[in-house]
This record gives sequence, structure tokens and C-alpha cells, in this order.
Amino acid sequence: EIAFYNDKFVGIDDKVVPIQERAHQFGDGIYEVVRVYGGKVFLLEEHLERFRKSADAIDLTFPFSLEKMKEIILEGLSRSEMEEAEIYFQLTRGISPRQHHYPGVPAVFSMTVRNARPLGDKNKGAAAIVLEDERWLNCYIKSLNLLPNIMAKQKAVSKNCGEAIFARDGIVTEGSSSNVFAVKDGVIYTHPATKRILHGITRAKVFELAAQEHIPMKEEEFDVAFLKNADEAFFTSTGVEVMPIHTIDDTKMPEEKPISNKLAEAYENLYKLKV
Ligand code: PLP
Repeated sequence: EIAFYNDKFVGIDDKVVPIQERAHQFGDGIYEVVRVYGGKVFLLEEHLERFRKSADAIDLTFPFSLEKMKEIILEGLSRSEMEEAEIYFQLTRGISPRQHHYPGVPAVFSMTVRNARPLGDKNKGAAAIVLEDERWLNCYIKSLNLLPNIMAKQKAVSKNCGEAIFARDGIVTEGSSSNVFAVKDGVIYTHPATKRILHGITRAKVFELAAQEHIPMKEEEFDVAFLKNADEAFFTSTGVEVMPIHTIDDTKMPEEKPISNKLAEAYENLYKLKV
């Protein structure tokens, strides 16, 4: 395992973040998480592109080019000598005495290369609870401000569930760290890619895979009752890939989940074929 802070590689447990760093005091920054399979970073270009979009959305200027950032990420992976890993990287508004408005100092890039979290059991699936989406209205930005997300996840975990599904005014938006899908009569439904959800990289891949498998897909709003009455439900993220949901609150979902299984397998094949 290894880390990078600002301008150099450091040990994963080194104490390197200055107290006046804006991520530390304000959560003023953005991040990405990518997964490494067989020594290769999966979908790095897509994640870097979203990173750039998040930076633009919060007026954050890159301290160096995306190309250089990519070099640092790949060098970190190479130094770690890891084949299976999770790479977290973030960009913050820099180090400056605390004031609310932007300080006009260089942004700080940092990264960790750590052991990949184990993938959950896709055959078993996961349980989920539904909670009110109390987040702000710009959830498409992959912001460091994750307080509502971590509180929702904690509530889920305390009820032995793997995920919390957010609903805003009854409409299912996404999970606390995933995108949510329903399958009804052979059609896949998910919330449109508006500002209310993170535009998941895995979500976009699932679109492509569904098209390849000739499964119709609709980006359409649906409510909590629709999700609970669906034939199948699943969530997606870089960390869990495609994960079927077996229970939502007190509702047991049907045991048969052919479309979730097909997409989960197709997604695995994407990186298995690349390595
Ligand atoms: N939605 C939220 C709120 C997330 O935090 C994440 C990822 O962690 C996702 C969706 C899934 O995004 P991706 O597939 O790019 O990992």
C-alpha cells in the first residue's frame, strides 16, 4: 500500500495533511475511486473525465494536467506492486488560513492505493433500506462532503443491510454509495442522469451491457412502491459492481433475478477479458 500527497509519494500511514488544508476544515474538494483488476486500472479514463467535471463544477483548477495525474496514479500502482487494489484520489482547494471564500492557492492532489475491498456475494445479494434523500441538489458532483451518505450507510449497517436507498419526495434517486435500478417486465429502469444523482461510471457501463444483451433500458423516474414491486432490483458501483437486492425494508424481492445475474456476469467479463 502507498499514498501520494501534494508533490510526493508517502507511506499510507504517514501524517502529511496540514491542519489548514481545506479538505480537512471544509470538505472542500472532490474525489474518485477506481478499482484495479489484475494489475490494471479499470475505466481510468472515464473516472478522470468525471473528476475533471466535478472540478469544473466547484471552480477548482487542476494544479497540473490530467495526463500528469494519470502518470502519478499509474506510478503509485506500480510502486505498490499490487495486482488487486482500490485507488482513491482527491483534489482539494489547498492549504490556507481558514476563511470561507476561495483562497486562491494551488489545489492539492492526493491519493491512496490500498487493498481492494472484497466483493460481496452476488448470488446472495444485499438487503437495503429506504431513507429520505436529505442531500443537497448537486449530487452529480463527486464532492468530499459525504455526511448524509455516511449517516445513511451507518443506518443501513446498523440494520444489517448493505445499502441505503435514497428517495426524494417519494422518487428513488440512488444509493448512499451506488446507483439503483429496477427491472419490470423485462425493462430496466433507473433515475435519469440529472443533478440529483451521481452519474455512475458503472451505471454507464451497465447501459452499454444492456444494449449488447438487447435488454431495453429506460432512464425514468420511479417511486419507492415501483421499486418494491419490481421483478428485480440491483445497485451498481465501482466497489460492488452489479449487486442484486434481495430485500428492501420489509419487502422480499423475487428469488429469480435473470437480468441482474446476466449484467453482473457481463460486467465481470469486461475486466476479466482485459487482464
Ligand atoms: N452514487 C453515489 C452517491 C456514489 O457514491 C457512487 C460511488 O461510490 C455511485 C453512485 C456509483 O458510482 P460509480 O459507478 O462511478 O462508482
